[in-house]
Amino acid sequence: MAVARFFERNYAAVGAALSISRDALERTLAARTIGLLCGPDVEGDANARWTAEMTVALLARLYPRLSLEAPPALADALTTLAVAINPLVEIVRGDDVETAIVIGGRRSPLPPNAIFAGARGWVAHVARTPVPAGGPENPYSAGAAGCIAVGEVFRHVFRASLRPWVEPRDLAFSLLDYGRDAGASLPVPDVDLSEVAFFGLGAVANGALWALGRHRALRGITWLVDAETVDLSNLQRYVLTLDVDEGRSKPALAAEALRGTGIEPRPRASELEEFAEGYPAGFSIPTVCVSTDDVPARRATQALLPRTVLNGFTGDRSLGTSWHRFSDDAACLACLYHPDHPGKDHTQIVGERLGLGRQRASLLWATRAPLPDQDLRTIADHLGASVADLAPWRGRALHDLYSDVVCGSVALDVRGIGRLETVPLAHQSALAGVLMAAELVKRSHPELETVSQPERLVSWDDVLRPPPPAGRWAHRRSRAPGCFCSDRDYQAAYRRKWLVAR
Ligand SMILES: [Zn+2]
Repeated sequence: MAVARFFERNYAAVGAALSISRDALERTLAARTIGLLCGPDVEGDANARWTAEMTVALLARLYPRLSLEAPPALADALTTLAVAINPLVEIVRGDDVETAIVIGGRRSPLPPNAIFAGARGWVAHVARTPVPAGGPENPYSAGAAGCIAVGEVFRHVFRASLRPWVEPRDLAFSLLDYGRDAGASLPVPDVDLSEVAFFGLGAVANGALWALGRHRALRGITWLVDAETVDLSNLQRYVLTLDVDEGRSKPALAAEALRGTGIEPRPRASELEEFAEGYPAGFSIPTVCVSTDDVPARRATQALLPRTVLNGFTGDRSLGTSWHRFSDDAACLACLYHPDHPGKDHTQIVGERLGLGRQRASLLWATRAPLPDQDLRTIADHLGASVADLAPWRGRALHDLYSDVVCGSVALDVRGIGRLETVPLAHQSALAGVLMAAELVKRSHPELETVSQPERLVSWDDVLRPPPPAGRWAHRRSRAPGCFCSDRDYQAAYRRKWLVAR
């Protein structure tokens, strides 16, 4: 069967979501052909084409056999894209398709599970019946519709493993204010992003750049900061990456994605700290989009006091974005990750995922002591691995093991992979990025901002359930008591820096 080269990573992601064995995953994927059916009207409709492109950029990373039907030029382009992502993917025509995403008008018979996807202006639609099309071009809603439709395909394919199963519901929501229909006839304007830095160019940033790269009327300077190169496991969910991109610099790949816009990309292959230290007189970039894996980088980003911070995140089954300005009473980015906030703190999560318990994990994390054999045995037992599997981390710090195995690229084929619960699904990361990109554009354009949602946090808390209905995506968040945003000196520094009135 033609599973992708990065199948181990697919297994880690799907296994985390569903507790499915590796064999069962392979069998399930082998037994299915996923369809993408594009009507004849799709070619002249930018939104429909973008939804189709996002759909293929996600489906080709997991499903080994796709049935693509579209007008000839588009079918060629989508086939080329699918094969470039996974050269082993099988593209068939009119095979026995049970589940398909349908874009644009269709007259031919539809499969039993037809999922209609489309976008109109700022409004994304995913439903069981044909959805509205036309309207102004909008890569954010078009991309979001593609991600959500792929999520519905995933839920259908793995329906037997989803307990409780929740029936899909028809969805229409506006990426402008997260209500039902705002901006359906409002074009995306020309937007000057001024100067923006992207901290971290992982899967979430890939989704953001995918959308920004299709918004041609964007201007400004964009710093693209990440020290890493693309590794094989990243192909599981980085929507910008193709098979040939393994080993390429992440900033260079990101810069390429912005080629069709008026943005001047400034790729920087460096660590965030190193990049920030290049501003000894005070960090002067007004806007930062942060989507790194770790909480400390988010706190550090907020402490640099950019005028506006955009955050894109994925959690165990969640995804979302948030936006922050330090001077008002709403939560700053650090508030969302404040240890006193209700919810689990970082070492508690580490302790649970590795079976160490919170106290032991806190101690090992704080001291960075070499991992003793006893703890390695505990972790191996918890993960269903052998101590030999974990031998590479003997004598190294807990931090190294956690970031390599859980957050990073080292794949372990272990029974307990589901307990690691951290490799997001491709559509989960991509949607978080698309939502972050929409916030960036909205918060960079005063008129758009006046018609955007006032709430700071936008989230979908469980991607194994249907997405929230319109009106349930945006959440108010107040400051966390004890966070540094309540500190007078920080507030004064922010106001001086951006000349914000009290
Ligand atoms: Zn705060």
